[in-house]
Amino acid sequence: MHGNVLILAEARDDSLHPVTYELLGKGRELADKLNCGLDCLLLSPKETRLQGADRLYLMLSQAFSQPEEYLYKANISEFIKEHKPSIVLAGATDFGRSYVPRVAAALGAGLTADCTGLSIGDDGRLIQIRPAFSDNILAHITSSSATQMATVRYGEFPMPILGTEAEIIKIPPYTEAYSGTVVIETIQRNLHNLSEADVVVAGGRGIKATEDISLLQELADCLGGQVGFSRALVEAGLADAAYQIGYSGLRVKPSLYIACGISGAAQHIAGMKDSAKIIAINRDPSAPIFNFCDIGYVGDLYQVIPQLIKEIS
Ligand SMILES: Cc1cc2nc3c(=O)[nH]c(=O)nc-3n(C[C@H](O)[C@H](O)[C@H](O)COP(=O)(O)OP(=O)(O)OC[C@H]3O[C@@H](n4cnc5c(N)ncnc54)[C@H](O)[C@@H]3O)c2cc1C
Repeated sequence: MHGNVLILAEARDDSLHPVTYELLGKGRELADKLNCGLDCLLLSPKETRLQGADRLYLMLSQAFSQPEEYLYKANISEFIKEHKPSIVLAGATDFGRSYVPRVAAALGAGLTADCTGLSIGDDGRLIQIRPAFSDNILAHITSSSATQMATVRYGEFPMPILGTEAEIIKIPPYTEAYSGTVVIETIQRNLHNLSEADVVVAGGRGIKATEDISLLQELADCLGGQVGFSRALVEAGLADAAYQIGYSGLRVKPSLYIACGISGAAQHIAGMKDSAKIIAINRDPSAPIFNFCDIGYVGDLYQVIPQLIKEIS
């Protein structure tokens, strides 16, 4: 007899983070295979409805208006102890990466982060698939703990067609006590725009100065796109780490990806390989990025990008 599949929902501003819906789609597939229910838990300051799960457990408190990992950890681990789901899935968002390992540690549960695939084995255990050793192998991981936990990045699973509205079960919080974290300032970033962008213009170490990022921005603006970066550019101190694309950054799937001065390391490719069309601009004809692109320009990005902008506008 299996416990249910539980999705840990994450709210963003006034709506749910889209990774929650993607997880509900995968969660339904797993629950059907196990012949069990699909539940969703949301800690929220206000009432919400949800489609796609059998039950939405709504833990209401004003204390949940700020993302506070210790408060989430305390409440979610108590919920899991009481309801005993066999599988718990959460988004590998910035906040998820912070509170989910704490929940797993509190429960002594196995947790696999950043899964790219999830399925059920012949023994009914969750098979958690994720790249390992810098993407060189796809590890298939199972955990022996009663609660099997996994996180998945936004954009990894397709957005499902959501079914009927979930039954809402309101439950009181187990605790509303803060650990003492004080939110001083909330900085709004357009990260979801980058993850969801239809066109991405990405810059790598071929960019020589922070001011030159405006060249990427200008090209992105012409195409209605967003700008992202390789890790080398971030590590050179020229770009914001929040917009890094790749294995340890964001995963993007635009219709068009333009890689400017990016060599094409496996860890960068991991974050953009599902783009429908890839254009690469690199002055080195032997750069590996040319093995992954549909159109390649061998040339200096400082000359090619202005020409492209001129032709487009
Ligand atoms: C565990 C781990 C995780 C990682 N995660 C990530 C990740 O999430 N994202 C990521 O990007 N990397 C990641 N990396 C780093 C990755 O291995 C590479 O080091 C990085 O992607 C290289 O970035 P780059 O292509 O911008 O720089 P480089 O490899 O230095 O390439 C720069 C390219 O620019 C070209 N160039 C230079 N000047 C010009 C010019 N004027 N015009 C045109 N072309 C020019 C050069 O020919 C060269 O090909 C990770 C590494 C590890 C070990």
